[in-house]
Amino acid sequence: MMQEMKSTDAKSVEASYSLKHLGGEQTVTGSCRLLQVKGINILVDCGIAQGDDTVIPTEKWPVSAGQIDYIFLTHTHLDHVGRLPEIIAKGFCGEVICSHATKALLAPMLKDAMSIKGMSPEENARTLDRIEELSWGFEYGTEFNLRRGIGFRLGWAGHILGSCFIRIHWDDPPFSILFSGDLGSRHTPLLPDPDQPQHSDLLVLESTYGDRLHKDRSQRMEGLGDVLSRAIADNGKVFIPAFSLGRTQELIYEIDRLRSEPKWQKRFPHLADRNLPVVVDSPLGLKITEVYTSLHQYWDAEAKQLASKGDQPLNFPGLYSVKPHKDHRRLLEMDGPCVIIAGSGMCTGGRIIGHLLDGLQDSRNDIIFVGYQAHGTPGRDIVKYGDRANGYVFIDGQKRYIKAKIHVMGGYSAHADQQGLIEWVQSMPKKPGNIKLVHGEISARKTLADKLAKLEYNCVGHGPSSN
Ligand SMILES: [Zn+2]
Repeated sequence: MMQEMKSTDAKSVEASYSLKHLGGEQTVTGSCRLLQVKGINILVDCGIAQGDDTVIPTEKWPVSAGQIDYIFLTHTHLDHVGRLPEIIAKGFCGEVICSHATKALLAPMLKDAMSIKGMSPEENARTLDRIEELSWGFEYGTEFNLRRGIGFRLGWAGHILGSCFIRIHWDDPPFSILFSGDLGSRHTPLLPDPDQPQHSDLLVLESTYGDRLHKDRSQRMEGLGDVLSRAIADNGKVFIPAFSLGRTQELIYEIDRLRSEPKWQKRFPHLADRNLPVVVDSPLGLKITEVYTSLHQYWDAEAKQLASKGDQPLNFPGLYSVKPHKDHRRLLEMDGPCVIIAGSGMCTGGRIIGHLLDGLQDSRNDIIFVGYQAHGTPGRDIVKYGDRANGYVFIDGQKRYIKAKIHVMGGYSAHADQQGLIEWVQSMPKKPGNIKLVHGEISARKTLADKLAKLEYNCVGHGPSSN
């Protein structure tokens, strides 16, 4: 009898909502999920696809943009928010729900993305005004109500400034879904560790690095210090393709630590002595760094302590930024040694292209990859073919041999690794009913699902054609 009751309950709960993945289910970009419950249409993220990844076009969605009541945003990377202008243009007039810091970062991120897409300044300004009207920043860790008995709570995800995981719940029948969004590593520079998640009946969990373990912080700083010292020794250039948002600020922070912490000064004495120039060749990176600096209430204890002692953690002598394009051209001609941080993170466009065209074939140079490289991106090809004899890559349609030394520093990833993901799931007060793995390539999802299954978690949908 009890068994019968249970299965009826499970059925009625299942029938009470629908969750569809409109992008970023089996890939790491294009995140977009549609939750339909009690006649309310909720979108969780609306990101663009990168590299070979694809998303379901809005014309094929089960609802029109105008029928969406709420859009929750986990964070402002474009593979999570990049389609917001398109959805607004197609008639969305509901509410955009996010953290306060995400709201502060939305305009600079989308403004840049829209101008790259060729939108006119007027269209750009109109869309940004509309986003400002529709979006609301919320506190972490507080319960809020939508309507019809649906509530939500944002948790700090530790991925980039403003990032959150989102728990949406309702009664009659009671059910809760927790969307992890992109989950950060512990010991991310500048930012606190992710919050403990509340229990949920369904956990929608990212799995980007479900099959990998990152180096710890001191190992990755050691690696970074080694590469920078090598540049000083042979007058090479160090190129770091990095997202303007998140990775750029983390790198500035850690280069500052390498130069000013006695332990690292001893290990790498030339870094501070020689005043190695570090250039952020990205107007957006500069703008975002300003936002990061102004939102210091969200920094971790270490960064706050440094600031209280007068050491601004996102600034140091020898840190330069390049705004106008003519200065970028001048920078291309500059001799090493120097460090150049420029987007895009996967070398699909942006100012890093010019640097790679000029610098890839010079063996004195180094390229440090600090972020995920999706299938079909030049970044992925450079990593893949970089250590092969006569390895080459096409950058902006031009063939370049890869003579520069290639380094992959997974420890700088803003994503939790396998252990981080598992520990975060284990920190839930009670096991979730089910875990749906998303936002990962097949081997990452499969490996993580196997690990979780061994720990007696119910994992669903980790195969190639999952639902
Ligand atoms: Zn992200």
